[in-house]
Amino acid sequence: MLKLNQIHDLPEALLEIKNSTDIHTVFDQPTLLFVEGKHKHPLFVSILLHANEDTGFLAIQQLLRKYSQPHHQLPRSMIIFFGNIEASKKGLRRLKGQPDYNRVWPGGDHPECEETRLMQNVVDVVAQHKPFASIDIHNNTGKNPHYGCINRLEPRFFKLAALFSRTVVFFETPKGVQSMAMAEYCPSITLECGQPHQPHGIKHAADYVETVLHLDDLDSHPVESKDIDIYQTVARVIVPRETTFSFTRQDVDIHFHPELEKLNFSELSGETVFAETRNNANLQALDEHEQDITDELFEVKNHQIILKKPLMPAMLTLDENIIRQDCLCYLMKRLALE
Ligand SMILES: [Zn+2]
Repeated sequence: MLKLNQIHDLPEALLEIKNSTDIHTVFDQPTLLFVEGKHKHPLFVSILLHANEDTGFLAIQQLLRKYSQPHHQLPRSMIIFFGNIEASKKGLRRLKGQPDYNRVWPGGDHPECEETRLMQNVVDVVAQHKPFASIDIHNNTGKNPHYGCINRLEPRFFKLAALFSRTVVFFETPKGVQSMAMAEYCPSITLECGQPHQPHGIKHAADYVETVLHLDDLDSHPVESKDIDIYQTVARVIVPRETTFSFTRQDVDIHFHPELEKLNFSELSGETVFAETRNNANLQALDEHEQDITDELFEVKNHQIILKKPLMPAMLTLDENIIRQDCLCYLMKRLALE
């Protein structure tokens, strides 16, 4: 049975554990930790919704260590949500049988379950404290730059995003993610901090959270359009079930270039070759409603799969399991800001 712990005293052990895999020795359940700061409207931060993504935990631990020193007070109160404690023990994204902890937030279409009730409870509690902003910290696989994701095209969301990276992704699906649920109450963002456990990712996340803690408001000095690049997802690209593929072997239907990953977050021209192909095998592109838009985006010509439009791939990975279970990549278009 999932229960939401609410804790108002910072446990010393939280500052001492080596990594997020030990967090179950401090918290036995998903936990909201309240830490007092000067400004009373709290910054809400969630970590370990995907329990193998430890950058958020290590960044928050660093920050709490600093501000638990004598004569240090947080510039603003914080509420920190420690998400999937069960899966963090094993260092897994989630356990078999658990839903994805970043698809069960209010506003999503996941059937009601223990986890949807847990997140509803978290949102209700946090909303009562009139949060200043919300930050959900993640990692991803593959070679991606650090970037923020927002779910509203509004100045305060741009400001929150621009403080982290000039690369910003706007999305409206999938639903049920933390940043979309929190956008009802305050500016909110999902941070993608590169691969787990990298020191520069941890430092970037910690510095960013500290910067936001020091802000008085998100309205002054609005972001100018030249200072951010906003992209929106156009399609999710998958390899059809029956199609074989490889980055190394040639005796497959689709043979990807071994350095395909390097195309992440580069704006490609309309003639880019994605792969070599046999038997006219093609990738499949699905829009946000899962409609097939392959013909608009890819064509097969001279045994090659060619991108038809100028678009930018993200989350490209060389991990064949992830490609099978999830997708090859997303394709994004640049949004023009007024
Ligand atoms: Zn994640």
